[in-house]
Formats: sequence, C-alpha cells, structure tokens
Amino acid sequence: MIIGVLALQGDFIEHCNLLSRLGVETREIRLATQLEGLSGLIVPGGESTTIGKLATTFDLIEPLRQFGSTRPVWGTCAGAILLSRDAQREQPLLEMMDIQIERNAFGRQIDSFEIDLPVARIDDSERPFPAVFIRAPLIEGAGDGVDILARLPDDSGQGKIVAAQEGHLLATSFHPELTGDDRLHRYFLGMVRE
Ligand code: GLN
Repeated sequence: MIIGVLALQGDFIEHCNLLSRLGVETREIRLATQLEGLSGLIVPGGESTTIGKLATTFDLIEPLRQFGSTRPVWGTCAGAILLSRDAQREQPLLEMMDIQIERNAFGRQIDSFEIDLPVARIDDSERPFPAVFIRAPLIEGAGDGVDILARLPDDSGQGKIVAAQEGHLLATSFHPELTGDDRLHRYFLGMVRE
C-alpha cells in the first residue's frame, strides 16, 4: 500500500513522517503520473489558494478529481477547503465533497489554538483528540450524504463542524499531523483498506 501526499505547498512532510512512523510507504505527489498505483491520497494544510493555483498550473485538478471519484482522499485544513464544493470565494477547488467552507473562520484575534475534541469513529473515541487549528476553516454546511465526525463545543451541542466524512472522502479543519496522536491517520488507513 502506498499513500500519496500532495506536495505542492504546505505541511506535506509532517503527514509523510507520521505515516512512515506507522510503517506505511508514502509518495510525494507533484505530477498526475505519480497518482498511479496509490491506494489513497492526503491533501495537506497550507494555503488553499496557492495549492489550488499550483494544481491548476501543473494540470492536476482533473486527475485529482478522477482519483478521488473512486479512491480515499483526506483533506486537512487547506486540504479540506480544496475538497469542498464551495469556499465562498473565487479560487480553484476540487469540488469533491458536498461541504461548504468558511475560510479563516476564527479571524485574526484567535488565529491558532488547540482544543481537546471528541472525534467519532476513531479508536478509543471517548478519549478526546488534541485538535490544532491554524488559521482554520470551518465546515459551515454539509449535504445529506455527509457524516459529521466532530464539532466545536458550544452550549447548543450543535457547534461548528470541524471533521466530516462523505463515503471515501474525509475532511478535517484541524491538523492531526502536528500532534503525536496518530488515531486519525490510522482511521484513514482503515478507510483505505476497506
Ligand atoms: N488559512 C488557510 C487557507 O485558507 C488554511 C490554513 C491551514 O491549512 N493551516 O487556505
């Protein structure tokens, strides 16, 4: 099994390192031909506008859509923005997931923070996951086919969505590759093996 990590910009190395620690072979993806033979793909955090523009320049948008039409793809932070069908701005998107995004949803005052969050479906899901948010997007809306895996806490119990899954596609607003907690990476590997 080889997991690709889109390596145009952003923190792709951190994903590769974590997967290597789990004994998984990884491949940095910069060209469409490199998608061949992959079992799954991670689109990392970074700057979604930059990643989208580079993907356009390198003719990767259609090959990535094609790949994601049948195989597991996980977008973290900027990667989640790229997977969405709508980020409420003009920017190239992969439009694979039926989610709507609000970019930089936390504004400048609190542009990064860490919070312990319960995340459904991961191992030991009672134990909160250390979620690192960096100029993070929120998932503002999700279609009927989308399962919500995590929300920010609020009084109503209907806090903003920060992790979601639609079939073989996964999106998280936060950065699991920056923590020592590998449960979300292991969850994604489980999706790949399914
Ligand atoms: N703010 C970035 C964007 O809108 C995402 C930040 C991140 O990936 N940590 O693309």
